[in-house]
Amino acid sequence: MTAASKLQAILERARGARVVVLTGAGISAESGIPTFRGPEGLWTIGSREYQPQEIATWGFFERQPDAVWSWYLYRRSICQQAQPNAGHRALVDLETLLQDRFRLVTQNVDGLHLRAGNSAERTYSIHGNLDFARCAAECVNELVPMPLHGAWARGCTLGPREREALHCRHCGSWLRPHVLWFDETYDEPRYRYESSIGAVSDAALLIVVGTSGATTLPMQMGMIAANRGVAIIDVNPETNPFSRLAQAAGVHVAGPAARVLPELVRAFRASADADRQRRRS
Ligand code: NAD
Ligand code: ZN
Repeated sequence: MTAASKLQAILERARGARVVVLTGAGISAESGIPTFRGPEGLWTIGSREYQPQEIATWGFFERQPDAVWSWYLYRRSICQQAQPNAGHRALVDLETLLQDRFRLVTQNVDGLHLRAGNSAERTYSIHGNLDFARCAAECVNELVPMPLHGAWARGCTLGPREREALHCRHCGSWLRPHVLWFDETYDEPRYRYESSIGAVSDAALLIVVGTSGATTLPMQMGMIAANRGVAIIDVNPETNPFSRLAQAAGVHVAGPAARVLPELVRAFRASADADRQRRRS
């Protein structure tokens, strides 16, 4: 069976059923936002280079909140300058087509899915969203829109104005970016953990886009789908743990998301149209 006919068979089986799309940094790579792999991920503080896995932690934030904020303000300014690409837009079309049978689970904190037009109700941002901050002391349970905007040069340090803006207006503690750090755990109220597990437990198809499988909830979702015999379509130029899971009952489409996803959504629509025609005749 060729990849195209395998894909066709998967889409036919998924007709009328729930579909979960799981995205990672790869879908935003073509919008100019670097993934964590490669040299762009590294960050210099003083004379040392750090990995994101070291900086993006509560432990590091407790010791050096200024340095952590400087890193996030730089990352956010890249996200703000970026625009959704054809891959993001295809997922808006897919939600329009499937309506409540669609769920989007994203690891990305860049906000591009929501800016492209996916609905906030059906989009679970399991690692948070850099468009928001919250009180680090948790004095109130609310997200605040990120108080600082505009370009932030790599390595730029916080001045008094920025430090003041980044403190809680209720209790005066530091605000923190609304992101899940590597030494923290998923939960439902902030990161939609149970909703994501529930969505994949009900789905007839899991589409995985641009993720290396380095984080736990996405891998758990992949395992749930595989154990249920649910088809997995993995869109990624490279092989990865999801492409290996897809070998059993799915397909690995080896290509960039901005090219593959519009084709995939066209195939979805064609399959739905053909079904409607068949019912009419
Ligand atoms: P990752 O950086 O570990 O892996 C990226 C994956 O995308 C790789 O498998 C790579 O082969 C693939 N890829 C690269 N270009 C692609 C393209 N054009 N189309 C499709 N796939 C492509 O990313 P991850 O698995 O998402 O995990 C890293 C963590 O970093 C996550 O927690 C995420 O929250 C965070 N992160 C987010 C952003 C963002 O918000 N845009 C950016 C970097 C990292
Ligand atoms: Zn507070």
